[in-house]
Formats: sequence, structure tokens, C-alpha cells
Amino acid sequence: MNRTQQLRSLPAVDEVLRSAPVESLLQHHPQPLLAGWARDAIDHCRQQILKDALADEADDATLLTLVVEHVQRLQEIDAGQSIQPVINATGVVLHTNLGRAPLPQRAIERMSAATKYSNVELDLVSGRRSKRGHRVCQLLSQLSGAEDALVVNNCAAATILVLQTICSGKEVIVSRGQLVEIGGGFRLPDVFRSAGVVLREVGTTNRTYLRDYEEAINEDTGAIIRVHRSNFHLSGFVTEPTIDEMVGAKRPDGLPVIDDLGSGAIEDMSHLGLPEPTVPDSVRSGADLTLFSGDKLFGGPQAGIVVGRRHWIEQLRKSPMMRALRADKTTLAALEATAEIHLSGHAFEEIPILKMLSTESDVVKQHCETVQRAIAGTCECEVVSSESQVGGGSIPGTVVDSFAVKIHGKNVDGLARLLRHESPAVQARVNDDCLLLNLLTVPEEDLGSMTTALCHALARWNNDPEEPHA
Ligand SMILES: *Cc1c(COP(=O)(O)O)cnc(C)c1O
Repeated sequence: MNRTQQLRSLPAVDEVLRSAPVESLLQHHPQPLLAGWARDAIDHCRQQILKDALADEADDATLLTLVVEHVQRLQEIDAGQSIQPVINATGVVLHTNLGRAPLPQRAIERMSAATKYSNVELDLVSGRRSKRGHRVCQLLSQLSGAEDALVVNNCAAATILVLQTICSGKEVIVSRGQLVEIGGGFRLPDVFRSAGVVLREVGTTNRTYLRDYEEAINEDTGAIIRVHRSNFHLSGFVTEPTIDEMVGAKRPDGLPVIDDLGSGAIEDMSHLGLPEPTVPDSVRSGADLTLFSGDKLFGGPQAGIVVGRRHWIEQLRKSPMMRALRADKTTLAALEATAEIHLSGHAFEEIPILKMLSTESDVVKQHCETVQRAIAGTCECEVVSSESQVGGGSIPGTVVDSFAVKIHGKNVDGLARLLRHESPAVQARVNDDCLLLNLLTVPEEDLGSMTTALCHALARWNNDPEEPHA
């Protein structure tokens, strides 16, 4: 067939939808989605014809097959975008692309229970309307030692809410060494600007003294802020005042000190070699407001938590912005459960990320050896020591000792792709000519399903060593 004949022979959408492979997809996909893919696939095929990319022999049946295959490809892309569980074999504990903190079981149950009608703004004893998130705020106050607490959608929202509500139109003093970009293009100077606050930078990148803050204070000052450097590490000739010292700065009565901690450790983690400022320490030092994320070292759902002095928190609560930033009922439920675990003293057993960070590396090594035995006959592999990162903008410059299963081969990118196509999907790391599965971040209960997925992917890889990896 020539080009004109081929263009005329392209199948219609209906015909594509009636073909057996596409019809079987109808069971699990809404018809309009499939019809859209069919139209896109026909268009794709039309472009191929116009580019003379198809052979003259391509007849009606070939054209239909090409279109159907393209529909299947589009379906595969769509499936890979649908949110689903992923086994995190990267060793990065708080992996931003994988949703940061996996929730504790108790939080999952409470979150799920709250998805139906739930008493998010109803006091079941009095029958009256209650303050949204009242109980979780009480728990967070108790946990941090603060007078009051407030929950919004994430810590970025908390930062904006605080700056806009209590410093709008005023100057906020910050050390040059703390003007960070925290990822996803979220740059502090831009945040200050969007909150209507004038940034007053003091000190230098590596050295800021207490007197720099004190000298910058004037009648336009709205607050002094400390921003915890959460995703990079300054070392060498570095000085900056501690939060205690900042609280002790000579400042007018009522000028607040804000501590943007970000990562929000509750328990001291220095025994794990992970020095990180804690929320209770920040409150104890006298910071007026302390901000942190719910899904970093707190180990709960995505949320922004503000704890501190009652009169400031009251102002935040009354802000019109609050209505736009408030957390949903499932988040509040999960946060309640997570806060209870911290309060009960079982954080290192029940909160997945804290459990991982405190796992003995020998245990990780044993898990690696078990996996290695299961795949030994099918590929070239070994157990190697490896370093894990906390990630997610927490504890930069610090690594946790762990172990990984290392698989060698020509086309390890192809194997990584096959692993991502498994169910559950497995995310590994590729380094040069090897694939690494770091098991610090794979909980024991997932080892079985990960091994099954790995065996399946390896079998396919061995069958087709040229497996594409795009
Ligand atoms: C991570 C972080 C934030 C942002 O927190 P999200 O919960 O991701 O919005 C803000 N400030 C600091 C210091 C952080 O580390």
C-alpha cells in the first residue's frame, strides 16, 4: 500500500476498542480513558506513515496491530503513574520520590478509620462542635513541652503562615548561612517575599555571631528566625549562635524567635550517630515558635506542625490563611496515632523510619544473605557493605552503615526497569555496572514479596538480556 492508502486504512477508534487486547483492558479502565489512548495511538500511527517510517507492506491488519500495541504502551505508562506501594531498596530512609516517611501501622489503622464520617469537629461527650484537631494539638503540646500547637498541610505552609501572620510588612532577621533551598525549588528568600516579609540577612555564609542579630534589630523588626540547614552540611570554619543564644539575644519584649527545624526529631538520636536538634530542646530553650514536618523524623503523615507560645499560636489559628492550609481528617487521625507512639516511649520500635535508623547493620546483612541465597543461581551477585542516607532533607552529611545485595551484569538499567514493573514495584539503585538493593529500608515483612519480585524480574532479564531500559 502506498502512503495515501495506508492513511485511509487507519482503524477507527471503535475498531481499536473492539479488538481483543483493548477490550480486555476495559475491565479495569474507564472507557473514556481507553478511547483517548486509542485516538492518541491512531494519531501516532498516522505520524509514522507521514514520516515514511512504515514499510509499504503494512496492510490493514498490520496497522491495527501497531495501533493496539501503542495503546498497550500508553496503558503501561498510565499504570506506572497510578499511586501504588513501592518497595524502597535504595537505602534512603526518607525518600522524597517515595513519599518520605512510611506510616506506623497504628497510624494507618486510625487514618483508615477516619476516612468514613468521623468526629473531626464534633465533641462526642457534649454533642457540640469542637475545635478541629483539638486532641492532636494537645498531644503535640505535651510531647514538645509547648503551651499550644497547630497543624497545617506541610512545613512549607507552616513557614508561610507564620511569616505572613506575625511578620507581614516587617523585617525578619536571618543568617546568610541559612538561606536555603529546601528542594522542589522552595527557596527561602522567595518564601519570605511571598509572605510579604522583608528579608534582613546578617552575617556571612559561614559565620554569623549573636551581635550580628542584635545590631540588625530596629523598630521594623518582626522576628528573628533560625532555619535548620536540613539538606546540606557546612563544615570547617563555621560559627552560628545556638537557638538558646538567639533566645538570649538583647531584643525588645515581645520580639519573637522562630525556629524552623524542618526535620523535627522528638527523641535524641545522637546515640545512633545522628546529631539532630530536637523539638523539645527547641521549646525548652525558649523559642517562641518551633516549626517541623510531620513526615520527616517525626515519622508520621505529611503535615506542618507549629508548637510554641499560646498567644502566637492563637494568632495563627485566627489567620484567614489557616482555613486554606488546614490538614484533612485522615492526616489528623494518623498524626494523633503517631504522637501517641512518641508519648508512649515506643517510637524506636513502632515508627518505621526510627526502627530502620536504629537497626543493627548485622541484621541488614543477614537479610541480604537470605536474598542472595534465593537468587544465587540466576545472576552474579554478592553482599556488600553500603552506606544509607537519612534523606528527605534530614541530617545532611551523615550516613548510616548498612548492607546491600549487589548484582553485576551488562544491562542493569534493564533489570532496574523490570523491577519497577513488578507488583509490588521495587526501586533499586544503579551504580556503574551494578544494581544495588540496600535492605536497610526494606522491612522484614516485605522481604518475601521483594524476593519473589526479584526472582521474577531476573528470569525475564535472563531471557532478554537486551531488555530496554527507557
Ligand atoms: C523540609 C523542610 C521544610 C519543608 O517541609 P515540608 O514538610 O516538606 O513542606 C521547611 N523548612 C525546613 C528547615 C525543612 O527542613
